[in-house]
Amino acid sequence: MQVVWFKRDLRLADHRPLWEASRRGPCLCLYIYEPQLLHSPEFDASHLLFINQSLQELASQLRRVGGQLAIRHGTVPEVLDELHHQHGIEALWSHEETGNSITYARDLQVAAWAKRLGIEWNEFPQSGVIRKLRSRDGWAKRREYFLKQPLAPTPTSITCPRYVDSGRLQSAEELGLTPTNKEHLQAGGVAEANQVLSSFLEYRGQDYSSSMSSPVTAFEGCSRLSPYIAWGCLSVKQIVQELGQRRSELRDAKAAGEHIGNWQKSLRSFESRLSWHCHFMQKLEDEPEIEFQNMSRAYDGLREDEFDPGRFEAWCEGRTGYPLVDACMRALLRGSWINFRMRAMLVSFASYHLWLHWRPTAVFLARHFLDFEPGIHFSQFQMQSGTTGINTVRIYSPIKQVHDQDPEGKFIRAYVPELAAVPNEYIAEPHKMPLSLQGKVGCVLGKDYPRPIVEHATAYRQARERIYAVRRESSARNQAIEIMRKHGSRKRPTRS
Ligand SMILES: Cc1cc2nc3c(=O)[nH]c(=O)nc-3n(C[C@H](O)[C@H](O)[C@H](O)COP(=O)(O)OP(=O)(O)OC[C@H]3O[C@@H](n4cnc5c(N)ncnc54)[C@H](O)[C@@H]3O)c2cc1C
Repeated sequence: MQVVWFKRDLRLADHRPLWEASRRGPCLCLYIYEPQLLHSPEFDASHLLFINQSLQELASQLRRVGGQLAIRHGTVPEVLDELHHQHGIEALWSHEETGNSITYARDLQVAAWAKRLGIEWNEFPQSGVIRKLRSRDGWAKRREYFLKQPLAPTPTSITCPRYVDSGRLQSAEELGLTPTNKEHLQAGGVAEANQVLSSFLEYRGQDYSSSMSSPVTAFEGCSRLSPYIAWGCLSVKQIVQELGQRRSELRDAKAAGEHIGNWQKSLRSFESRLSWHCHFMQKLEDEPEIEFQNMSRAYDGLREDEFDPGRFEAWCEGRTGYPLVDACMRALLRGSWINFRMRAMLVSFASYHLWLHWRPTAVFLARHFLDFEPGIHFSQFQMQSGTTGINTVRIYSPIKQVHDQDPEGKFIRAYVPELAAVPNEYIAEPHKMPLSLQGKVGCVLGKDYPRPIVEHATAYRQARERIYAVRRESSARNQAIEIMRKHGSRKRPTRS
């Protein structure tokens, strides 16, 4: 039998391994709960819930075309070995994965297992990320070419191998995880993914460019596709092609004299985010070490030995005394999503103001992002922490961000109820309220809400001095040239 191994590609459409395998004879679709991934500190029961919702739909879609989803729990080589002994595997089919060190090591074991038994393992790319890329020159064109190719056809009939036990979905408890208590999670599955995509392309996306930065508007105005892309309910190719169709409809509408508002600008901006998706993942594909190591080794030792557990804990719990930082963290703890600018601010605050090394903070947020995608996550973390050495140093002011993104404190008040009655003029810096006012609005600093954990101006200045001191060193400058050559975008930066 052919085995199609599903990982972060929980769909039937545009699934080339499935299409190819299904044409070769009896074919078993397989999902494996991998203990090493489930119990890694980056994994959370909210991820499992999303995966299970997606698997449930996948199983029923497969049944409709005669196929079967088998679910197993164990290490991949062991599960494959058992299936092989029971049923005989002719070939293994899957998508390439740009994962973390655990999936990388597991892939090496699977490759060794397949080689030992003479079983062919056929892997296919699933986004614009290119394996064994020799140079970034010409990368964008190769990505574009891949995404323009037709989608892999969806099989209309699959022949199942006989007598294979389907296994079943397993709950968090059964897998040894604490169930999630998050209330505002996006639901998994292809139907939901398609609904989110079409609502974005048909009406929600019109003001994407102007609504993406503020947490007040971003929940509705951003595409919210990230978990569906990360777990593969939709392929990037599908999204890019649907986007292309929508853009041509809008061009026709405009040519016919219709008013199309901000659609064109917004969809251009969305398209560039989708290319960033592959651009950032390509960095981890090309240099897996950046999951753990500073991209520029010139920054080694900058923060590692100064890790303050108390500061880390306050940041993780949304108790820093900076209202927007705390609101974003508490929103994440409830719903596992926050928009890009607020992610950048959270990380900037941790890495600069609190001077925390990015690795523990990255692991914490990985667990709390439903869309955790190692390639984007670690690359973005390093960029926002200044350790790539090639990106502009951006230290966000958690006070200015309130004035810019939530001046009336709507988002802050929704997630930090202690500040509900604080007047707008103090919402960015409640510790500046006179004591009498603190009492009157029921928010006494140090009692009802924390005083700022660090003083902004001092922390900002010190962080700037320290990061620029390294950046000026000749070794850092030389490394930056090398890093730019290896990972730098060859495109001129856009302003959106
Ligand atoms: C520190 C940090 C960590 C991040 N970790 C992740 C992560 O683990 N997984 C993840 O999908 N995104 C991550 N991002 C990128 C970005 O914040 C999210 O992709 C985005 O907020 C998801 O919401 P959306 O789907 O509505 O995005 P949209 O704005 O609607 O964008 C559409 C898609 O484009 C891609 N994209 C958007 N922004 C970026 C970006 N800056 N870099 C790379 N790809 C992008 C995503 O696939 C996203 O789903 C991170 C950003 C930062 C600053």
